[in-house]
Amino acid sequence: MSAKALLIGLDGATFSILDPLMEEGVMPCLKDLIAGGARSELASVIPALTPPAWTSLMTGRSPGNHGIFDFLRFELRAGGRQLRVMDSEDVACETIWSMLGRNGLTATVLNFPMTFPARDIPGNMVPGWVPWKHLRLACHPKTLYERLKAAVPEFNPREMCMDMSLEERALEGCHGEEDYENLIKLHIRRERQWFKAAKYLMSEEPADLTAVLFDGVDKLQHFAWRFLDRVIFSASPSAWESRVRQLCLEYFREIDRFLAEILAMAGKDASVVVTSDHGFGATTEVFYLNEWLHQHGYLVWADAASIEQKHSETLGLGTMVRRFYEIDWEKTTAYCPTPSSNGIFITPPTADGKGVSVERYEGFRRELMERLLGFSDVKGEPVIHRIWTREEAFAGAHMASAPDLTLSLRDGGLVSILPSDVLLKPRTETTGAHRPNGVLVAAGPGIRRGLALPSLSILDVAPLLLYTLGLPIPEDLEGRMPEGLFEPEYLLSHPVRFEAPTKRPAAMAGSPDGINPQMQAEVIGQLRALGYME
Ligand SMILES: [Zn+2]
Repeated sequence: MSAKALLIGLDGATFSILDPLMEEGVMPCLKDLIAGGARSELASVIPALTPPAWTSLMTGRSPGNHGIFDFLRFELRAGGRQLRVMDSEDVACETIWSMLGRNGLTATVLNFPMTFPARDIPGNMVPGWVPWKHLRLACHPKTLYERLKAAVPEFNPREMCMDMSLEERALEGCHGEEDYENLIKLHIRRERQWFKAAKYLMSEEPADLTAVLFDGVDKLQHFAWRFLDRVIFSASPSAWESRVRQLCLEYFREIDRFLAEILAMAGKDASVVVTSDHGFGATTEVFYLNEWLHQHGYLVWADAASIEQKHSETLGLGTMVRRFYEIDWEKTTAYCPTPSSNGIFITPPTADGKGVSVERYEGFRRELMERLLGFSDVKGEPVIHRIWTREEAFAGAHMASAPDLTLSLRDGGLVSILPSDVLLKPRTETTGAHRPNGVLVAAGPGIRRGLALPSLSILDVAPLLLYTLGLPIPEDLEGRMPEGLFEPEYLLSHPVRFEAPTKRPAAMAGSPDGINPQMQAEVIGQLRALGYME
């Protein structure tokens, strides 16, 4: 047996896409897996975004406690305001890989975000979201890169990771017909390489848990939503539109074949969990949040000359960071630093009496929320669906570094942080955006067959994985072991056990120092290409 448990991540997977694909015969293996096991929608965290969501899945803790709210964090430093890319050092809680390790079990962990730099786990780890030039050093143990290179003929870090020249070009060029096709083909090749790495490690160095994340699902759904969603796909498609849709289906067919091979290797006694980090849906309009804040007197745009003068040394980080500095911080009381966060930060009080004082804060925030919720389109329909305060969304040890307010837009999309002549604009093409409900499919020993549960929480996945591996559940995990997935007799003979709270291990001696400035620039460029930054 080459794994006791499997965790297959499909970033952004949603039943509204997967169900029709299973009906059409594109994903027979997933269909069989569901028939022989259980399925449920999986509620993501707020915000329903890749880094906080996968971190919650890996730790069983909510963002207010693990401290990851976005790809980036806005920080006030001695030198001024800075945006910093989050990495594993910022994850304040213990991961399931580490919980396995201290219980004597091993893990193979491939392509998960927020796992660089790797911590000392017994097993093998290739972190996700690492610029390809840094992959050799990022692998754990250090020899893993050379072994994969020697054993996997397709191994090509430029494609597996984030080679800006490949991906940004492809994404920016998505106006041309061929670019769409090339980009989907690139994602098929990428996934095949992650699959081959998983297959090699499962056969040569089997671990108790093999976890592999296929993140092209998220990327395809972002840029090719209108080809994937049967409801909005053209009734009379052009030859090109049909070709793009067929390629999208081919991508999912390949994922299903990889799943079939991985399941076959693991054997029928393995526990299998297939999960996404959030769901997906269409986005049809753009709300210019910083422009709204500007027009309502909260945010003041800086003039270009002062930006060049003050921040010339950091402008190399890309357009997004330049936009960030286009704000006159002296006069601004509320702003949104990143589209991905949909979050508003209220400027804290400064020594010279600027910002929002502690006494004013509650009233200031309430008024801002009310005005935002009152913003409507030309038909008088409200644009903002819901606003969470930081206490509602991020209660926990790290609440102080979370946004003061987090917005959910009526179309489920991300805000724009750019200046604009209008506050609301239809998108030229319908694209994909995240939704709160992802997917969970589970099968294996004790799991009920043909069960469909309405909803579980992404926080429940870590307790579920620990239970399937026969381990106790640390009492500070915030999710619950979803007992409803299991046969009652199985639960009786395999009672859920608990143990002392988690302990986050210290950084590993000799590990790389995290994300250095050059990597920051590359990651930010990637985020921009994906539409999470501007
Ligand atoms: Zn995601």
